[in-house]
Amino acid sequence: LGRHSGDHRTQGFDYNGVHFGQDNLNVFAGLCAVDTPEHVEQMLKALQENGQVCTRMGAYKPRTSPYAFQGHGKACLPYVFELAGKYGMRVIAMEILHESHMDEIREALEKTGHPTGVMLQIGTRNTQNFELLKAVGRQTEFPVLLKRGFGITLEESLNAAEYLASEGNTKVVFGLRGMKTNLGDPHRNFVDFAQVPTVKRLTRMPVCIDPSHSVGNRDAGPDGIPEVFQVTAEGVVAGANMILVDFHPDPATALVDGPQALLLKELPWFLEDV
Ligand code: PEP
Repeated sequence: LGRHSGDHRTQGFDYNGVHFGQDNLNVFAGLCAVDTPEHVEQMLKALQENGQVCTRMGAYKPRTSPYAFQGHGKACLPYVFELAGKYGMRVIAMEILHESHMDEIREALEKTGHPTGVMLQIGTRNTQNFELLKAVGRQTEFPVLLKRGFGITLEESLNAAEYLASEGNTKVVFGLRGMKTNLGDPHRNFVDFAQVPTVKRLTRMPVCIDPSHSVGNRDAGPDGIPEVFQVTAEGVVAGANMILVDFHPDPATALVDGPQALLLKELPWFLEDV
């Protein structure tokens, strides 16, 4: 990924008609967690109406508590992929927690027959799950979004990305999603988007920002602008190449991370701002 070769030329990749590189910007707005087919459809319809071809849809959710909703998993894939095809989605970012999830996704995608693709997301809790990284790195069918680990150094997270590349998959986007600190931050995580140019200087990976999981709420400042918008702007100014952002048709009923989900009516405003 550029770290050990001394070669810092931009290395992008194309996947399913979408270009990912250090030289462009893709927005992946969508549901943190798939809950109902109706919400998936409302979300995707809004995205299509706003000219979007990428989205995020969480089927497998890594939860802090075993009693919290764990995601519908494999069961929701048929309707998620069917609706994604119906609304013209080209790439869905979807987190996986186990290598078997890749087979489940592949099988469900094949059954729908739509030209929708999946970018496999490895979340912050699995950044150093080396066996998962190796398994995902061994396949080259799906590109990967690797989130930084929230409690490890940047260097350690970049090495985690090398696990993917060293096994053969260099279609990797690196995600910044905020860091945990013990300073009682007002945000869910300490926003780390100042490191966008650092990652771009050190590697050839396109860099994603996740303002939703960094900020953790959709509160607005005194100017009426949600802080998620403000930190997104910081990340874009810093050179971000991808934005992963939570929206929900009815955040009050969302099963995961409702407080940070932006409203569908805010989607055109968000995209315009970006
Ligand atoms: C997510 O994007 O749904 C998620 C759980 O993110 P993170 O791994 O950054 O917490």
